[in-house]
Amino acid sequence: MISTNYLVIGSGIAGLTYAVKIAERFPNKTITIVTKGEEDESNTKYAQGGVAVVQDVQKDSFKKHIEDTITAGDDLCDPEVVEMVVSHGPTRLKELMMWGAEFDSDSEGNLDLGKEGGHSEYRVVHHKDITGAEVQRALLSRIHQLTNVTLLAHHFAIDLITEHHLKRDVSKDLCCYGVYVLDEKTSNIITIKADTTMLASGGIGRVYGHTTNPIIATGDGIAMAYRAGAKVKDMEFVQFHPTALYTNEGGSSFLISEAVRGFGAYLRNKKGNRFMLDIDERAELASRDIVSQSIDKELKKSGDSHVFLDCTHLDLESFINHFPNIYEKCLSLHIDISKDLIPVVPASHYLCGGVVVDKQGKTSINNLFAAGECSRTGLHGANRLASNSLLEALVYADAVYNYQCKNSVESVAINIPDWNDEGTSIPKEHILIRHNLNQLQALMQNYVSIVRSNYRLNKALKYLDLIYNEVEELYKISKISTSLCELRNMINVAHLIINQSKDRKENKGGFLNIDN
Ligand SMILES: Cc1cc2nc3c(=O)[nH]c(=O)nc-3n(C[C@H](O)[C@H](O)[C@H](O)COP(=O)(O)OP(=O)(O)OC[C@H]3O[C@@H](n4cnc5c(N)ncnc54)[C@H](O)[C@@H]3O)c2cc1C
Repeated sequence: MISTNYLVIGSGIAGLTYAVKIAERFPNKTITIVTKGEEDESNTKYAQGGVAVVQDVQKDSFKKHIEDTITAGDDLCDPEVVEMVVSHGPTRLKELMMWGAEFDSDSEGNLDLGKEGGHSEYRVVHHKDITGAEVQRALLSRIHQLTNVTLLAHHFAIDLITEHHLKRDVSKDLCCYGVYVLDEKTSNIITIKADTTMLASGGIGRVYGHTTNPIIATGDGIAMAYRAGAKVKDMEFVQFHPTALYTNEGGSSFLISEAVRGFGAYLRNKKGNRFMLDIDERAELASRDIVSQSIDKELKKSGDSHVFLDCTHLDLESFINHFPNIYEKCLSLHIDISKDLIPVVPASHYLCGGVVVDKQGKTSINNLFAAGECSRTGLHGANRLASNSLLEALVYADAVYNYQCKNSVESVAINIPDWNDEGTSIPKEHILIRHNLNQLQALMQNYVSIVRSNYRLNKALKYLDLIYNEVEELYKISKISTSLCELRNMINVAHLIINQSKDRKENKGGFLNIDN
């Protein structure tokens, strides 16, 4: 068993920011970060556009950023939370820069500001088109300088430890005492006892067949917290990115950043029509939900598999300067953006909902905090404004830190039983896991995607139950593996998305049920 003062699940922007702050403030305390896979694999690493932070106070203001956020969220945002996140932006950005993250500046040495869909002003701070990778690099490098932090890569969090595991009364307030973790290299299951636990396990993109998210985004934290009894909300608000690069292959789709449309690219259908002009006065820069739904409509009408992004009229040198990564990726697929149109399709991208937290990042379970994409703060409402998520993660990591500075975290003397895997064995075949995963992703893509209906949601629930029963049977008799746990978690997440979609009787933001 490992004992630690502060446990962090996840090494993306939320988990690392929190860990750096706690470790610097409490040099005599121990901080343990567990992360599945490589330490730098996260949604954070792939963020392209940047961090939305008000900088140019001549033209921009907190008021404008707040209004843009609330408009994108279709009035379901919590106004107090929006104000808190937006107004803390500049301080959090400065702190990140102090830790070594570098952002592009203009010829006068001011931060170069981008503009993305739904933003009324230029306020997106970026590092070329690989902002997330730069943030991840800087945070990891800071973490490795801190001697009281232990980062355990290839350690998969299986389940949060609560009264359920201690065979105590679960009808009273629940408390989190740590987590059971699978060491992915040795297959041993370790108990980590923690005075406090921070869930920073990211999003759920892989639940869908087309996604911009990397393989780690399987909703583990949300599923674990839900199983432990935490409140989970707004799961129906899955944001689909309008412009993922379309290829015939499955797996992660490369993202063509919103900033490319901000830079002047047009969306065209196969016939060459700029269809967004007829839909919204902001055309290609309408908010994500509108652009995604419009593409979906266009595809359903035409039967085509994708639409196109047209950059042929843009200044090539300037494009390459701003988006070197996108330019190279297209070129590697024989798409010369100065002559060819880029095939694009909407793909699952971001979850607005998740584990409910208050303004201090507290979940409904004592000693369990959450920040970043796995959490539901109330910032995004029914639709996230572009580049507000990195900002949210920074602000909430800081909010949890502040709360814990004011409310000291106490150790509890408690005996936690080891993980019990009696009666289980290593499955002889892995095909059942792969098959059920493919079924799940196809089901969610076809029935629970951008445009939903009561009929499709009911059908989805019926099919999901079949998958659920088969996987639960397998889980009971199998030795734990990452792929099996991830599948089980994704099924939990799919259930939450479908059930909360059924409960929603009003279309809002990114949510559209044609029967509402
Ligand atoms: C392609 C792409 C582009 C984006 N562009 C932008 C942008 O420009 N601006 C913006 O604001 N947002 C952007 N986003 C969204 C943003 O990147 C994420 O919302 C944000 O990075 C989430 O940070 P996080 O720390 O919450 O989670 P993540 O960065 O996803 O980190 C989660 C961590 O938890 C770990 N983990 C998960 N499950 C377990 C488990 N069971 N056990 C142990 N560890 C686990 C993962 O391995 C990972 O280390 C983009 C997202 C994508 C995919």
